[in-house]
Amino acid sequence: MNYLKDQLQKANHQSKNQQLIKETNFTYVFNMIYKYRSISRAQLAKITHLSPTTVSSQVDELLQKKLVIETGISKMRTSGRKPIMLNINENGYYVVSIEMKEEGFDCCLYNLLCKKVDERRHGVKDFLYIYDELLGAVTEILKESHIPEDKLIGITIGVPGLIDYENQHIISSTVVPIEGNNDFFEKLQSRFHAIPVFMENESNLCAYAEKAFGNDGNIRNLFYIDVGKGIGGGIILDGNMYRGSFGLAGEIGHISIDFNGPRCKCGNKGCLEIMANIPSIIQKVIFEIMSGRETTIKEVSKNDLNKINTDVISYAAEMGDKLALEVIKENAGKLAFGINNVINLFNPQTIVIGGEVTKYGLSFLEEVKRQLHEIELKPNIPKINVRYSKLKENACTLGGACYMLDTIFHTPKMLRNGA
Ligand SMILES: [Zn+2]
Repeated sequence: MNYLKDQLQKANHQSKNQQLIKETNFTYVFNMIYKYRSISRAQLAKITHLSPTTVSSQVDELLQKKLVIETGISKMRTSGRKPIMLNINENGYYVVSIEMKEEGFDCCLYNLLCKKVDERRHGVKDFLYIYDELLGAVTEILKESHIPEDKLIGITIGVPGLIDYENQHIISSTVVPIEGNNDFFEKLQSRFHAIPVFMENESNLCAYAEKAFGNDGNIRNLFYIDVGKGIGGGIILDGNMYRGSFGLAGEIGHISIDFNGPRCKCGNKGCLEIMANIPSIIQKVIFEIMSGRETTIKEVSKNDLNKINTDVISYAAEMGDKLALEVIKENAGKLAFGINNVINLFNPQTIVIGGEVTKYGLSFLEEVKRQLHEIELKPNIPKINVRYSKLKENACTLGGACYMLDTIFHTPKMLRNGA
């Protein structure tokens, strides 16, 4: 009896292994077509070292699931029968990528090649009812793009705030007024239960997009810092998104740059976020004006303190206004301190600065670098590239779409079941 039991277990094990190999081959062949874009079955067999029969059966399934298409006969000058080329069926499936913002959210639709095919901006009056708004937006963008719901294979929501990934809710956000007990995400996952639905920190998604589309070459370690109303950070470590043990890695906004500084809402003192975010710069300007300081900012904002914003300060700095130049330089110094802490901790190859602060222009970036060079470990100076984001407003939703697609493409069960 024991012999039979052993044999049955062995057969079961072998069958599971065979299934696993089949699924891995399926993903492997798909990713090779994704990489090379126009490729024949024979070329695939050569590159993957899989047998022509295995390649053929995987390609048949990919064609049947409409993940790839045959694009016609090869134009290559070869003798004999010309092979049929295969490519990704870029509009075969779609993902929705959403970025939550201060007064609403952006809802974007991306195809399998991570190309944005549609986008809509939605205002939200009360974030208490955000689930209905999100569901309405997803339904609307699909309907108006004439895409049936079964062509949707994933939804990512980027949130500017701290996320409890284990319990899948927002812990806190400087930007979006959502309470931790809001169950919008749970409801969305339940509504779209057949496909993956991710909630991810916005800066993590921006970092992911910068790694994928920032043209930095084959970099493995990158840090993204977003400076706006809040200050957030995202880490790419060894090519992957790094969240840390409890999802809170990269929170550069709550790294202290002054032990004796003001108390932050997180409990720490002198956090970079309260010392160097956009509102802190504006407050400094207002304080100086109210103390009687002469500045062209007053004229540019038509003597209305409420009109002082990043554009006004940036314009005044371009005109050579001393106060504007002073606050911008001071802010560059604070950011340089925060960034230096990150550099000394994990030594990335690239630091990307994004968010509203980039409106201060290239002279601001140069000032951050100059002050950074004064304090950073000298061997790092020629090696670490500090740059602005090249992706601007797209970064979060692009990162969300790219992260979703990469996850699906490299998870055999998701790729076979989702499609
Ligand atoms: Zn803090």
